[in-house]
Amino acid sequence: MRFDILTIFPDFFTSVFSHGVLRRAIAQGQVSVACHDLRDFTHDRHRTVDDRPFGGGEGMVLKPEPITEALESLGLAAKGSRDPQPEAVVLLSAQGMKFTQRVARDLARMERLVLICGRYEGVDERVNELHCDLELSIGDYVLSGGELGAAVIVDATMRLLPGVLGNEASSAFESFGPTHEELHGQFSQEAGAPPLSMHGAGGLLDYPHYTRPAEFRGLAVPDVLAGGNHDQIRRWRRERALEKTLRNRPDLLEAAELSDEDRRFLRQLQKG
Ligand code: SAM
Repeated sequence: MRFDILTIFPDFFTSVFSHGVLRRAIAQGQVSVACHDLRDFTHDRHRTVDDRPFGGGEGMVLKPEPITEALESLGLAAKGSRDPQPEAVVLLSAQGMKFTQRVARDLARMERLVLICGRYEGVDERVNELHCDLELSIGDYVLSGGELGAAVIVDATMRLLPGVLGNEASSAFESFGPTHEELHGQFSQEAGAPPLSMHGAGGLLDYPHYTRPAEFRGLAVPDVLAGGNHDQIRRWRRERALEKTLRNRPDLLEAAELSDEDRRFLRQLQKG
């Protein structure tokens, strides 16, 4: 998958893409990321990318010409005249639709994603009208630029690409994971087999994880995890995932995939 990022601060991304899973995915050629400096698409001595807002008011606005020229240099025509391709042009914006794991899963099906980073008061709206397939916000707060949002979208999307994480189950069975229907029976679980980590699946938050030492500062790892009974471990993890979701993100329970046993457990928790 290819990511193109349009920004006035291309150096911002140097360290972002030099670590961990993303660095490895780039080195192995599963992902390529190119950052394009919008100032390279200006034609004046000062390399001007912004101007004052029509109608008055605070701050400056990113001009449409450098962004349009940058998109054209990447072979991207205005959206009405683009050939249908598995690609999307995304404007980072606090006014956008919220970026979630479900959106990341949709974006991971694309071959190419172009991310436009705003600055100042934002981007001339005609860029959105002419070129953008999606306007995405990474959360209900205002950042000073779209670069952090672009980095978040690249990271969350690329780790869902087949082969990027060593183990496909890692991204299927984690917080905000897909439902079993969405997984199309990809990971079956035989009774008595060692537990796949599928207990946060179906839209819940993940369960808590523990490693060695077995006791740390007076806190012991729950006995069930050392016991080796896979069915008990599976149930314990599922209950902790339900508990955590109820406590921290009860909104997720409305759309989560719940069994009768899950519902009974939640009713008990709610009764206290
Ligand atoms: N005037 C804008 C508003 O009130 O919605 C805020 C502009 S913000 C200071 C500058 C740029 O940061 C935006 O154009 C956008 O690219 C980026 N940005 C700010 N908040 C964001 C968010 N929550 N998600 C994604 N991008 C964001």
